[in-house]
Amino acid sequence: MNIAIGCFLQESHSFSPIPGSWNHFGKTEILRGTEILDVLSGTRTEIGGILSAGNETGADFFPLISARSTASAGPILREVFEAICDELLTSLSSSKKIDGLLLVLHGAMIAEGYPDASGELLRRFRERLGPDIPIVATLDLHANVTNLMVTMGNALVGYHTAPHIDMFETGQRAFNLIARMINDRSRLAMVYRQLPMILPGENGQTTEGPYHEVMEKTKATIGKMGILDASVFSVQPWLDVPEVGCSVVIVCEESAIQQAEKEADDIAQLFWDKRRDFDVRLAELEPSLIHALAIADGPVILSEPSDSPSSGAPGDSTVLLKALLKLDPKRPCYLNIVDPNAVLMMQQAGIGQTIEVQVGAGYAPQFYNPVTLTGRVRLLCEGDFKNKGPGMKGLVINRGPTGILVKDQISLVVMSRPIFQWDPELYRSLGLEPMDAQVVQVKSPAAFRAAYTSFASEIILIDTPGVCSPKLKTFNFQNIPHPLFPIDEFDDWRKPG
Ligand SMILES: [Zn+2]
Repeated sequence: MNIAIGCFLQESHSFSPIPGSWNHFGKTEILRGTEILDVLSGTRTEIGGILSAGNETGADFFPLISARSTASAGPILREVFEAICDELLTSLSSSKKIDGLLLVLHGAMIAEGYPDASGELLRRFRERLGPDIPIVATLDLHANVTNLMVTMGNALVGYHTAPHIDMFETGQRAFNLIARMINDRSRLAMVYRQLPMILPGENGQTTEGPYHEVMEKTKATIGKMGILDASVFSVQPWLDVPEVGCSVVIVCEESAIQQAEKEADDIAQLFWDKRRDFDVRLAELEPSLIHALAIADGPVILSEPSDSPSSGAPGDSTVLLKALLKLDPKRPCYLNIVDPNAVLMMQQAGIGQTIEVQVGAGYAPQFYNPVTLTGRVRLLCEGDFKNKGPGMKGLVINRGPTGILVKDQISLVVMSRPIFQWDPELYRSLGLEPMDAQVVQVKSPAAFRAAYTSFASEIILIDTPGVCSPKLKTFNFQNIPHPLFPIDEFDDWRKPG
C-alpha cells in the first residue's frame, strides 16, 4: 500500500493585518520529502498519527511537502499558494504509483483569488489523480467545509477536541479510512450539512458547555450501522467569503447514506438550537486586573482572545501592558508581545542593560497605541521552543529572536513572530515559571486551557479591542452569504430567510 502524504495547513482571517507571505511560515514549518518523516514521527500531530497507524500495517509512505503555519494570518498570497500547490503536485509526479493520498489541511484557508483555497487544492489533486485514487484529508475543528471540498475528497475528518489535543488521533482516523478504501477497493460516501451560522470560539470547548453536547452526539454516531466517521465543525468566524458556515460531515458506507443523512440532520439541528449558548461575556479589563493582583494565590491567567495569534491576530496589543503599568504591581506578572523592532533594540543594547524602548501596535494600531517602556534586558535568545503540553506535543514553535524586558515586577516577553499561545513553554522555555507569577497573560480564546487549567488559580477572559474580538457583528463583512447567524436573525437553518 503506497500512500502519498502532504500538508498545507493555514488558518486564514480576512481581517488580519499579518500578510500570508513566506514569512508567515517559520523556519521549521516547511518540510520536504523524508524530512517530514524524520521531524514529525513521534509528535502528536496529524502526520505523527498517520505514521504511527501506517507503521502498524506496513504501509509505505511517500512524503511530498509539509507547509504548516502555527499562527493564523490574512489570506495566503497568490504566489505562495501557487508555489506550495505546485510543489505538492510536482513531488507527486516523482513518486512511484500511489494507491491513495492523505492531506493534512486546516480547512479554513483563503488564498488571493481563491476564497476556498482548501477546496481548490483538493480539486487540483483530484484532477491529477483521477476519480479512482482515494483522497482523505484531515481538518481542524474550525474548518470551513465547502461543497467543493466534499465533492473532491473521498473522506474529510475533523478534530474532535477544542482545545485541540487530538491531532494524532485525527491522523490515525484518516489513515484507517484510506487503508479501508485501498484494501477493500471500496468507495465511501460523505454526507454534508452546512449551517448558516458562525460562532465565537470562547465558549466553543468540547470539554463542557454547548459544543460538548453537540460533539458527544456526533461521536456517538460513529460505529452505528455503516457510519465510519463523523465530524462537526464550528467554523473560524472571521472569513469574509461567499460560502461560510458551521458544518457536519459523516463518512459512511454507500449503503448507509440514508441513516447518515438522518444523523447529520439531527446533529445540525442540535447545533443550531445551541447557537445562542456560544455567546460570550468577557470581563472588563481594569476590575479584572485589580482582582487578579489582590487575591492571595496566583497565578491568575488573563486571557486576551482579541489578540490571539492562533485566531489571526498579530499579538502586538499593548492594552493589558498599559493598564498593568498604571497599577504598579507588587508581585510578578508575565506578559508577552510581538515586536521585532523592539527585539532588535534589545539586542543592540545587550543583556543587563536598561533601555527605553517603544513596544507594540506595529500591526494593528487602529486598536491600540505603542507603549514606551524603560526596562532592563534580562535575556535574549533565538526563540524556538518545543510544545510540551497536550496540544501538538513535540512540535517546534518558531517565534524568532526573543527577549525578556523587565520593568519592576513586570517581565515582558518580546517576540519577533506571532505564535500559538497554547503552551506555558512560551514562558518556561525562557526561565519564567508561570506558577510563580501572580498574573500571566495568554492570548488565546480557548485552546490554552488544556495546558493552563491544571495550575491556574483563576482564568479570566478579558474584553479588549483587537483583530480577533468575538463581537462578530462589529466586523465589516462584505462577501458573506445572507442570512448568516449572528449577523442576521432567522429561525430555520434549513430555510434561511
Ligand atoms: Zn482550530
